[in-house]
Amino acid sequence: MNDAKTAPIDPNEAKTAVLDYCKRKGALVAGVADLAAIDRFAPPGHRPRDMFPTVKSVISLGVGGQTQGAWKVPSRALGFFGSSEGRAYKTAFGLAYFIEGKYGMPSIYCPADNDPLGGTRLPFQSMKLHAELAGLGARSLAGDILLHPVYGYMYYASVFTELELPPDKPMEGNPCPTPSCVDLFRKGGQTPCMKFCPVQCLSGDIDGEGRQAAMRYEMARCAEMSEQYEALPGMLGAAMAAPDAQAREGVLHDPDNAILWYKMSVGSGGLLGQCFECMRVCPIATKAPLADPIRRAAQAKKEAAR
Ligand code: SF4
Ligand code: SF4
Repeated sequence: MNDAKTAPIDPNEAKTAVLDYCKRKGALVAGVADLAAIDRFAPPGHRPRDMFPTVKSVISLGVGGQTQGAWKVPSRALGFFGSSEGRAYKTAFGLAYFIEGKYGMPSIYCPADNDPLGGTRLPFQSMKLHAELAGLGARSLAGDILLHPVYGYMYYASVFTELELPPDKPMEGNPCPTPSCVDLFRKGGQTPCMKFCPVQCLSGDIDGEGRQAAMRYEMARCAEMSEQYEALPGMLGAAMAAPDAQAREGVLHDPDNAILWYKMSVGSGGLLGQCFECMRVCPIATKAPLADPIRRAAQAKKEAAR
């Protein structure tokens, strides 16, 4: 029997239990975003109440990204390595069940998918906004990818619940750009992420204090490079417009196009991932104190021995 349905719930105790669950299941960070703040920034139709009208709290969690070794693979392989987001979603799914089971409060795992009414570039909800407002990362010069000063680059997932939990605050500082990025920018007008983006879709400015002054991101160029589901209609259009069967076969089986069929058939996340080159050269993503899973394991062993 779930006596929590009748007993009053202490929001602080519940928050501790919720955040502990996230950490136990592998989240590096977890927090609660302020619902009123989300409503201020998210556009109408994409606020938590638009998906779950009785929501009282938005919980965000982050899991680590690639292994340290993955940053060394060639660029054509790197796009296939960014798949730990599944762990974030799994943890969020489990958390929704955990809250319903322990507290009897309706909860949902918030899908990270695009809104069918909005096309391929408009998500139902912004996991990034939830995580930012919960204090789990700050917007970087690399297309606003969130970065954390300790854990670097993470994947985020959200849970909406009727359980009332006290909200956290956004991070006070922003680790991006690092001093070495500022130096490079002063010398050549580009930070490492800008310089090594293969389609040059990142630009921006840094002020006299070494802080972000502007971030510019040409999403369409990045998407063309890395979100290949957008390439499929183009390829099919070219095949349909081919003058004869041989030319049509040439389009469908062209080596550049055939890889799309491969990715689809194996359900590869490489169809819609990033190309990751901006993160490969980012000192926070790769070198933040606990961005490296090898260092995280060493730290965990040290803590367990205390
Ligand atoms: S994912 Fe690739 S294309 Fe997109 S911003 Fe990063 S480096 Fe550029
Ligand atoms: S490389 Fe990383 S830390 Fe440097 S400016 Fe780009 S996102 Fe920021």
